[in-house]
Amino acid sequence: MTGWLGFERAHVWHPYASMQEPATVYPVRRAAGVELELEDGRRLIDGMASWWCAIHGYNVPRLNEAVEAQLRRMAHVMFGGLTHEPAARLAGKLLGLAPPGMQHVFFADSGSVSVEVAIKMAMQYWQARGRPGKSRLLTIRHGYHGDTFGAMAVCDPVSGMHHLFRELLPEHVFADAPASRRDTDWDESDIASFRALIEARHDEIAAVILEPLVQGAGGMRFYAPEFLRRVRALCDEFGVLLILDEIATGFGRTGTMFACEQAGISPDIMCIGKALTGGYMTLAAVLTTAEVSRGLHADGHVLMHGPTFMANPLACAVALASIDLLLESPWQERVLAIEARLERGLAPCREMDAVADVRVKGAIGVVEMKEPVDVAGVQARLVADGIWLRPFGRLIYTMPPYVMDEAQLSHLCAAVYRVAARG
Ligand SMILES: *Cc1c(COP(=O)(O)O)cnc(C)c1O
Repeated sequence: MTGWLGFERAHVWHPYASMQEPATVYPVRRAAGVELELEDGRRLIDGMASWWCAIHGYNVPRLNEAVEAQLRRMAHVMFGGLTHEPAARLAGKLLGLAPPGMQHVFFADSGSVSVEVAIKMAMQYWQARGRPGKSRLLTIRHGYHGDTFGAMAVCDPVSGMHHLFRELLPEHVFADAPASRRDTDWDESDIASFRALIEARHDEIAAVILEPLVQGAGGMRFYAPEFLRRVRALCDEFGVLLILDEIATGFGRTGTMFACEQAGISPDIMCIGKALTGGYMTLAAVLTTAEVSRGLHADGHVLMHGPTFMANPLACAVALASIDLLLESPWQERVLAIEARLERGLAPCREMDAVADVRVKGAIGVVEMKEPVDVAGVQARLVADGIWLRPFGRLIYTMPPYVMDEAQLSHLCAAVYRVAARG
């Protein structure tokens, strides 16, 4: 039944893993609803939504049908010189949902690639406008934007991978991340470092890149919407583009369709991915204003990017179905209900000596320990308890599918409590 596992262990890499000392991986044979079924028949409630993606859960009839129907027409055609209805309809749907001002769509094949494309757009924009010196990015510490080189260079310089690839990475500008994290919190000092850097260095800065309100893989930190409003105003004042990376936060995760809505601002360039296809396939997109697309072509140059699998029709078709399913569902109520349940279910962890902080925003719950978590040990105990999570660093966290019910959420929170209690 699992005779392939030994071969897999010897030959196949996993994310952020050693081939020499491979960590335990759990074989999944199917998944449905919010549960993963292991090869040995055990079923796990998935608190990760496959890294933010599977917002509707697994094996969703509507999404399966969308893939099957598209499959009978065509799985893929090149997008250079050809086009198809799923791409056009998806672009229309995305622009209709996006914050005001978004006018153009570039389909990319993963979140990291969309960040690369966004960076290229910002560079080409200033080159076309005769300002090639504006070639750096400004961001805040604790960010995460992906694993490719352009994206890595704007990830947190300490917890990211800068030390391994320093020789090859461009040097960007890092401001302190804001300390205020509740929506109503604000301290003027939160913007001081960012303001000082943009004032001093705007002549060399092409764009600011940020994850709006929630910093994901860089530390699962939340910050106040006021910071985003200040950043938008400073970008306008100093002639710097604003790239918002909504790859993790997009499609309702924080309680609004896109997180930047909570600050009432729009970016110049926006990256989306992850939940875009409801977790079915890899697809991302870069959205821009008309000003950015006009500006970057002002010198007659084309946009220099074109992935082989650009706008893959299967991925576009399932993304369309996923967005329809989301819009037809009471998604906002569901996310707010999950928020309330996570808040209630994880609150007892606050009393523990080993716990540094508990925070919840939308359908995201984080228990930050004081010491690094023994990931393999914690994971094994959670699996024995019927729960799938993947802690990292000092963080045990969850971003469940929106369809997780109350009983499953309390089981999840109770399991987190039990592992946190063991320290
Ligand atoms: C996951 C993520 C990315 C990278 O997306 P991939 O599809 O893994 O390349 C970029 N930015 C943010 C905020 C993410 O959460």
